[in-house]
Amino acid sequence: MTDSKLTDDQRKIVDEVGDGVERAFDEAREQLRTARIPDGEGSTRCFRCSCPGYVFPVAGALAACDRNGCGHPFSRHDVY
Ligand SMILES: [Zn+2]
Ligand SMILES: [Zn+2]
Repeated sequence: MTDSKLTDDQRKIVDEVGDGVERAFDEAREQLRTARIPDGEGSTRCFRCSCPGYVFPVAGALAACDRNGCGHPFSRHDVY
């Protein structure tokens, strides 16, 4: 816990926001799948590498981009 300078209140908010983001992500993924929208090339590029757009994992938890060579989390892509 060496890098944690958050107060309990701040940590609680971070947790809440994280939960909200995960829910929103779930819903967004569901909507994209339902509408069969392809991966957002150019609109959800990765901030950490040259990945041009976040690829929703086929299965599993919300997390790592499914693109080869990326694997960065959803939140590291230009999605907000
Ligand atoms: Zn990516
Ligand atoms: Zn990446």
